[in-house]
Amino acid sequence: MERETMTSNNLTTREKDERIIKLTRAVELLQYEKSKSEFMRNFLVFIAKERPYEDFFADSVLFFRHEFKSAYAAFFLYNKENYNFTYLVGTGYKEETMPVIDESGSIIGETIHTQDTVIVNDIKERYFHFPLNQSPPETNVVCVPIYTKKKTLVLRIANVQDGNLFVALSTVLKSMANIFAQTIDHIYENSINQQTIRGVQFTLSISRLLEKTLERREIIHRAFLKIAALSESTVQMIAVREGHSIVLIEKSLPDFYLGGSPAAHSVYLKNLMETFPDGVGFIENLHKMPRWSWSNIHYISINLVPLIIEQRVIGTLISISRDEPFGDSLRALFGLAAAQTSITLERAFYIHQQEEFATKDGLTGLFNRRMFDTLLASETAVSGRYHRPLSMIIMDIDHFKSFNDTYGHKTGDEVIQLVSNTIASTIRTSDRAFRYGGEEFVIMCPETNAENSALVAERLRQRIEQAHTKDKLRVTISLGVSEYIAGESTEAFTRRADALLYKSKESGRNQVSVG
Ligand code: GH3
Ligand code: MG
Ligand code: MG
Repeated sequence: MERETMTSNNLTTREKDERIIKLTRAVELLQYEKSKSEFMRNFLVFIAKERPYEDFFADSVLFFRHEFKSAYAAFFLYNKENYNFTYLVGTGYKEETMPVIDESGSIIGETIHTQDTVIVNDIKERYFHFPLNQSPPETNVVCVPIYTKKKTLVLRIANVQDGNLFVALSTVLKSMANIFAQTIDHIYENSINQQTIRGVQFTLSISRLLEKTLERREIIHRAFLKIAALSESTVQMIAVREGHSIVLIEKSLPDFYLGGSPAAHSVYLKNLMETFPDGVGFIENLHKMPRWSWSNIHYISINLVPLIIEQRVIGTLISISRDEPFGDSLRALFGLAAAQTSITLERAFYIHQQEEFATKDGLTGLFNRRMFDTLLASETAVSGRYHRPLSMIIMDIDHFKSFNDTYGHKTGDEVIQLVSNTIASTIRTSDRAFRYGGEEFVIMCPETNAENSALVAERLRQRIEQAHTKDKLRVTISLGVSEYIAGESTEAFTRRADALLYKSKESGRNQVSVG
């Protein structure tokens, strides 16, 4: 009975078996359909994630190996000049034994000819393939060409245990090649933008140094610290010419020596600076140049950019790469850094000059009359408040009108400089000298009573008496010395000193009068 019921369904045993097989296949296929859609979803999540360009390829091979459950996954770079492929980054493959792969005859080369993904289910069935010297050898291989804007890459995945999974996921990968290439372009452009932003922030931070200091050496030092922080694997230095010798004024790594040793360092540096006298230079891979590849050197690239003030090279930023040759973007950043440092130094120079103009006299370099008024007000205030002594020496060149008439105005100016230089070299650092009028000068001596400033005045009188111009011309000066009386106005104080100067003139000139 039972047998009959079965046959009533019109199925023979053979037919039943066939149907079971079909159903099993369908379930299996469904399973691979599920794997495909999971892979597609994971892939989209993977490429959507923000990550630095440098990490993208290494992350990718790990991702594909994980998804395919493969033994191998790697990116190869297509060199179109040489018609071959070089290994870029991978997982599972041994780089040491990996050959350069010729385009012709290889599976990977076929991707270039067909501009499409090549799927090889069983490598043994292929008439010829280019062996990659791997252990174990490859069994199945998928090669996906990825045409990015910058270069052509091939993603190669091999030795997937599950043959059905291999075919299923390879098909998905084939359809995703374009999206993958666009992702690489996008991440690359993003990283360039990031670098540009970093560059702008960096240059801004250098120009802000002006808010802290106008001193040239200090600006160079602070800018250098910022430059040194730009790239960790780079050694930075700044070299300057001092007469005939070359001096390193900055170095980011104290134990680092050019030429591989302290002994070789200065010779190597001298060679560099002489080879690139304008401060502009790039040696991409110095292992290829016997001239630069001395024994024991542990670096690859050297980049030089100049620091320039008013069209004059005042120093050279030397950047040294220790692991790989400098790329264009990093070199551009060094150029930017040096340019911004130069601009900042030049600006500091001008601001400093402006300040000098405002406070100093052009002919003598002494403070001007305006500064005299300002400083006299503050010094008398301090002296009055704290009961500290303050003295003033006022002086005038004797018979200077006739000197001018005899030797001319230009020689007269030389004498004014002779007198001011003598004043500057005679006074103490706490004293201040001013050009008070045409050939009149004042020295302000804080913390000094009349008696002691009279000694200074007398010493100065003698020195000027002995000094002479290059044409052996001499002058004398008359001086008046007075000490500040607390409460007295600045005008009264100055008038007293002036009266004492007049007294010296009256009494025969070339002398000091003290009040
Ligand atoms: P004395 O002071 O000894 O009484 O005689 P003097 O001839 O020096 O008289 P006075 O101090 O009044 O003369 C000032 C002269 O100094 C007038 C001018 O010819 C000269 N003089 C003032 N300023 C300058 C300057 O900047 N350069 C030159 N070459 N001469 C100047
Ligand atoms: Mg005068
Ligand atoms: Mg005079």
